[in-house]
Amino acid sequence: PATAPQKLWYDGELVDTGRLQATVHTHALHYGSGVFEGIRAYATKRGAAVFRLPEHLERMRKGAELLGMTFDVAEATEAVLATLRANRQGDAYIRPLAWYGDGSFGLDVAGHPQHLMVATSSTNVHLNGNRTRVSVSSWRRNPASALPPLKLCGAYVNSILAKREVKARGFDEAMFVDDDDFAVECTGANLFVVRDGRVTAVEHRDALPGITRDTLIRLIGAESRPVSMEELLDADEVFACGTAAEVTPIAEIHAGENAGRAYAAQSPVGREIADVYARTVRGDSAWSASWLTEV
Ligand code: PMP
Repeated sequence: PATAPQKLWYDGELVDTGRLQATVHTHALHYGSGVFEGIRAYATKRGAAVFRLPEHLERMRKGAELLGMTFDVAEATEAVLATLRANRQGDAYIRPLAWYGDGSFGLDVAGHPQHLMVATSSTNVHLNGNRTRVSVSSWRRNPASALPPLKLCGAYVNSILAKREVKARGFDEAMFVDDDDFAVECTGANLFVVRDGRVTAVEHRDALPGITRDTLIRLIGAESRPVSMEELLDADEVFACGTAAEVTPIAEIHAGENAGRAYAAQSPVGREIADVYARTVRGDSAWSASWLTEV
């Protein structure tokens, strides 16, 4: 059994997890002025390896740049690897976070110190591979024209509202639909549909361009295009995917008082794709070598 991670990276050093505290004036705490990533490492035959680390850190760099932060990808890479080594982890969820710290209550970030931390955990944090019961949220996804789909801390209040809404209805996960009734994504995962053996990645400008989504498109040659709710509810299978969620078959989508769909329990295509993904992240596919960074 894995022990709880003891160390985390904070501003250039490995420190004991319990020792850190943020001050109540932390700018990011008030305004969400930070950017994070969700990354995974896997225990492979050649030891622990991080899946698609450069792509995750590049997405983080884009968010940091938007917030006016300096972000050194090489430093962040070292921070991730050093934290995993210090905690002697094989399978791990990795959470880097860059944020603005102590300062005034003004919205101008200038003058606030910037911090970088990396925490790791040994548990799954998202949908956990179980068949998930999804309900359509009445909230719209943050439009890309107002908040670009990057992992900016403040943007996730939108996901929190949707999650709270559908949990109160007794569902596991929320999905977003736009004004024209096109599917967007879930609170922390992208969507795929399967119809007559054909696999389609749901594309939407307001959705996070997921790295798992990109991985699956390359692995199985799926097409990517906008998908209406009508098409989604008419599909043979629907699954969600993300770094934490991996490939998670959806059991049902609740889309209002008398609308929705229960999908057949087997999800044969989704399960096969989940297997291919699992082999890839664990180093057992032809694609693995180029996507894994050894710890
Ligand atoms: N959408 C949202 C809103 C997310 O937070 C995530 C998780 N990062 C995803 C999709 C899936 O992205 P990825 O495959 O890069 O983890």
